[in-house]
Amino acid sequence: MAIDPVCGMEVDPKTAKISKYYKGKMYYFCAPSCKAKFEEDPEKYLEGGPVGME
Ligand SMILES: [Zn+2]
Repeated sequence: MAIDPVCGMEVDPKTAKISKYYKGKMYYFCAPSCKAKFEEDPEKYLEGGPVGME
């Protein structure tokens, strides 16, 4: 399982439809809103880890 870096949810890469390739790694998201948040500020989520839903 992959971890959604934005909310920390487990995402199955086999079924995940929302993903993004960033700095040599593939990231998977549970929802379009999570991907949008990640794209706004990827470093924030990669350095600090999941910050939870707001
Ligand atoms: Zn998510």
